Amino acid sequence: MNLSEQLARLGSVKEHEPLAFHTTYKIGGKADFFIEVASLENLKKLIQLLNENDIDWLVLGNGSNVLIDDCAYHGVVISLKGAFDAFHFEEGILSAQAGCSMIKLSFEAMNHSLSGLEFASGIPGSLGGGIYMNAGAYRSDLSEILIDVTILRNGKVETLPKADLNFTYRHSLFQKHKDWIILSARFGLQPKEKTEIKALMDSRKQRRLSTQPVSRPSAGSVFRNPHGMNAWQVVDNLGYRGKAIGQARVSEVHSNFIVNEGNASARDVDRLIRMIQKDAWEKLGIRLITEVERINWHAETDTLFIA
Ligand SMILES: Cc1cc2nc3c(=O)[nH]c(=O)nc-3n(C[C@H](O)[C@H](O)[C@H](O)COP(=O)(O)OP(=O)(O)OC[C@H]3O[C@@H](n4cnc5c(N)ncnc54)[C@H](O)[C@@H]3O)c2cc1C
Repeated sequence: MNLSEQLARLGSVKEHEPLAFHTTYKIGGKADFFIEVASLENLKKLIQLLNENDIDWLVLGNGSNVLIDDCAYHGVVISLKGAFDAFHFEEGILSAQAGCSMIKLSFEAMNHSLSGLEFASGIPGSLGGGIYMNAGAYRSDLSEILIDVTILRNGKVETLPKADLNFTYRHSLFQKHKDWIILSARFGLQPKEKTEIKALMDSRKQRRLSTQPVSRPSAGSVFRNPHGMNAWQVVDNLGYRGKAIGQARVSEVHSNFIVNEGNASARDVDRLIRMIQKDAWEKLGIRLITEVERINWHAETDTLFIA
């Protein structure tokens, strides 16, 4: 049996799948294989198969924090969408699988009159990607409400408490262990009036709509905020608001966003990122570290500050 046939037994498979179809930047070359795996048992078999045959793989969530190179990815991209999107609430605890949308979970929590996830109601990622990034907004992040995370590593399912996962601002231990797959997590939420939760979520939605370039493909904030500063102010001070390389442009609306104006390549976005990083360092002595993660990146980036 060839690889394609073996994969087809484990989930829904596409060959030569443009990853641009699976990223919010609408950027990314073709993956040799893209699989929506059908169950946990199949996920275990899949990883075993790929590792035994020395085939590269990666897990993609909603593709909302990645810059994937335009060249082909010679490996298997694994999606947990579909088979890993169950969740339930019990006595103030939300248990949710990694493929769940964070936006959906925040609205479900509101419907259960449970507070804690309001900040996530505008973050367009999966829960797995959110935990990996320790996604957050408005001075809150997932780690604040997290209890534990269940993962697949070395073929075994294990549950790790929050304290073991080294969460800080937009950082988790998962960023150093790309072969650990986040399966699910539990969160402690607080009872609150639904109307209060809704009011907060509505006001934040208005704020996002007025301060972010929501109609253009992007991956949200490009740079992490340097200590005590806003990255967008650094980009502004350097005069980059509105500047473009090819079809990648620093948004006029929010200068920590780079938007794809239609047909931007990953290299356009990357060149713009690196120009800003270089100027920030040389002119202001500030290290701008990317929040967006480069994937399938083989060429030298010759700089700079990648977390
Ligand atoms: C318009 C817009 C607004 C945004 N606003 C915010 C914001 O306010 N705050 C914020 O923090 N972020 C924001 N983001 C960025 C992004 O939505 C978050 O970082 C989100 O957490 C990424 O989740 P994802 O599922 O899209 O991850 P992906 O981009 O698919 O993946 C990111 C990384 O996580 C890994 N990963 C994904 N799933 C798993 C898993 N199950 N197990 C192990 N590793 C996994 C991937 O391999 C990759 O390395 C925004 C993005 C956009 C486009």
